[in-house]
Amino acid sequence: MVMGSLNEETEVAVIGSGPGGYVAALRLADLGKDVILIEERERPGGTCLLEGCIPSKALINAVELKDSAQNASRIGLSFDNLRLDVDTLRKWTTGIVDGLVKGVQGLLERRGVEMVHGRAEFKDSHTLLVDGSGTIEFQHCIIATGSNLARLPEGMDPAVWSSGEALKLPYVPESLAVVGGGYIGLEMGLVYSGLGSKVSVVEFFPHLLMGADQDLVGIMVHHITPRLEEILVGSRVRSIEKREKDFEVVIEHEGEILTRSFQQVLVAIGRRPNTESLGLENTQIVVDEQGFIEIDEECRTSEPHIFAIGDVTHGPMLAHKASREGKVAAEVIAEHDAAFDNRAIPAVVYTDPEIAWAGLTEHEAEQRGIPVRVGRFPLSALGRARTLGRTDGLVKIISDPQSGLVLGVGMVGLHASELIAEGTLALEMGATLEDLMVTIHPHPTLSEAIMEAAEVAAGTAVHVNPPRKL
Ligand code: FAD
Repeated sequence: MVMGSLNEETEVAVIGSGPGGYVAALRLADLGKDVILIEERERPGGTCLLEGCIPSKALINAVELKDSAQNASRIGLSFDNLRLDVDTLRKWTTGIVDGLVKGVQGLLERRGVEMVHGRAEFKDSHTLLVDGSGTIEFQHCIIATGSNLARLPEGMDPAVWSSGEALKLPYVPESLAVVGGGYIGLEMGLVYSGLGSKVSVVEFFPHLLMGADQDLVGIMVHHITPRLEEILVGSRVRSIEKREKDFEVVIEHEGEILTRSFQQVLVAIGRRPNTESLGLENTQIVVDEQGFIEIDEECRTSEPHIFAIGDVTHGPMLAHKASREGKVAAEVIAEHDAAFDNRAIPAVVYTDPEIAWAGLTEHEAEQRGIPVRVGRFPLSALGRARTLGRTDGLVKIISDPQSGLVLGVGMVGLHASELIAEGTLALEMGATLEDLMVTIHPHPTLSEAIMEAAEVAAGTAVHVNPPRKL
């Protein structure tokens, strides 16, 4: 529907059609609610589908395939003239996004969810203004407006890329500076390095991926270092200046000033919640200093009939967290007994090798003084990892020393993104080391590493050397 003299009433208005909002709208419709979904972009899907998770993973897959093909000569497989055509890759990625967008549109239509295009803001606690003119009166509302790029504070030249621009593959620069060594910066940096750019990563903090277990990060960094021109941690970007043919980037690194020239710069220094200009001041909704909306376990804001989910609320800015919260909010509105009481939200970094973790990390346990027993199993000791030629990695299980309760699972290696689901299920179900050890894992698979790491933690592993006798 297009704006104009829109004047509607609905049981539930959902603002934002990302993985939080559209999932909430679908679930609400299934629960018999009358729903209007308001989206300011032309198409549903939000950051994740249009300029985040999906296009980035399509590009990562392409460069990893190329890398595997280049490395295949050691198994006797070689290719002449291997090349990756950027135009075809761009079309392929766009096609994946288009197909998924159509899928979401179809699901919404078939459930009778009314989609309104425009920008919503609160006029008061029961009314939304859309594009400043139309109004929607609601009984319940879900705010799912997501997040946007936190830009460098000083006026940055518009020619600098955000991840959204980089994902469109405008061209492959000869040299690229990636400002920000979080997961988005690293993933995009590796894509462009795979496409042939000389990539330098500049990170303000002393380590890459600050939130992750550095035990795991170290293995990944060792593996990706040869693909990058330079990794500068503990470094502050002082200025980025656009010149005729390049950018001059001034970096403060260990008390020294480094001046570098790059054909292109990509800034990926985090994201901030989209809560500005939403008219929240016309409601009683409480927002913290960083702009996140405060919610309770049922995803209710301080206005009990208004909910907030996804990147606008605290917690990791991840699509699967947004979707889970979307289902919780929808079910609470439909008066079901639901709460966001999940024990773990898995996190994945799609570098090569991948890193994934869920629950407590060893570092967190140390900082919080929680006694833990850790079992580590290296992929080099695993048959399947050897058959795949990918022994770079390990699985780590963090458990309670008394009860054997699994408190955290971390891993680095091929397909860690897939394997972490077992660890998350273990945490959710309150599994113990014994549960993981006695579950028969198919052989030969990478999943055996989870069982093996549990055995190491329990002291019963047969595929690692026995502890040294004193
Ligand atoms: P969004 O997806 O941001 O959707 C919000 C929607 O609300 C948008 O469509 C926006 O247009 C709309 N909107 C905003 N304000 C208004 C308004 N006032 N009126 C109407 N509409 C409005 N997460 C993962 O889990 N895995 C990944 O691999 C991953 N990769 C990523 C890669 C990149 C490059 C980026 C940038 C992000 C990635 N993320 C990933 C994060 C993920 O995209 C977000 O966590 C997720 O999209 C959040 O979902 P959401 O529904 O809260 O918000």
